[in-house]
Amino acid sequence: MNISNNIAEIKDKIAHAAHKSKRNPEEIQLVAVSKHFPLEKMQEAMGAGQYLFGENYIQELQNKKSLLLAGAIFHFIGHLQSNKAKIAAEICTVIETLDNYKLARTLNNHLEKLNKRIDVLIQVNIGNDPKKAGIAPDDARTLLIQLRDLPRIKASGLMTIPPYDADPERSRIHFSNLRILAKKLTAENLFPEQTKPELSMGMSGDYLIAIEEGATIIRVGTAIFGKRQ
Ligand SMILES: *Cc1c(COP(=O)(O)O)cnc(C)c1O
Repeated sequence: MNISNNIAEIKDKIAHAAHKSKRNPEEIQLVAVSKHFPLEKMQEAMGAGQYLFGENYIQELQNKKSLLLAGAIFHFIGHLQSNKAKIAAEICTVIETLDNYKLARTLNNHLEKLNKRIDVLIQVNIGNDPKKAGIAPDDARTLLIQLRDLPRIKASGLMTIPPYDADPERSRIHFSNLRILAKKLTAENLFPEQTKPELSMGMSGDYLIAIEEGATIIRVGTAIFGKRQ
């Protein structure tokens, strides 16, 4: 299978899962996770109309940004250190992995100088997995309240990576918990510019279940590009 066939197949499956759960497939964004994949593969994806990529590492993101054809859009989905925040702020349209106020403040300062505003998602460790990044569900609320003071940052939703399980059905409870948390926070007006908060959840193994549970952003790597080296 080549990349454009993989993308077409995933889009079919997205549409099917959306209809099954009475959702509009248009409200689900596919992020092609391109970490560790070479530019040629990303160009192939762009040839198939896939312009939105997710990257985890700042150095790799920076190299690719400078070499790729115009038109590529990036979400940052890795662990972001404050000393790399400037580059992420320059290149990305969305930071999906915000999990502390210090980083938010640093980002806001850089964005001020860049005269730019970006969307962020709060990364929540919804399954309390010691191996996963993200803040505890209770702390998401505190962080969102703090973000009200940072005008360059638009809080637009939540992101999570559930504990790994070979059975994708086991992710369902975590996805549904993230949706419930987002609903609660929305009722407190903590996503003030968002009628419906973004929910970034679901990867190659479990994105169909994530869609059934309300995902608006899915992050898919290996199902598009094949196995990572
Ligand atoms: C690598 C990665 C993905 C993609 O994982 P696949 O299993 O290759 O689809 C999604 N989200 C995050 C945060 C990642 O680091």
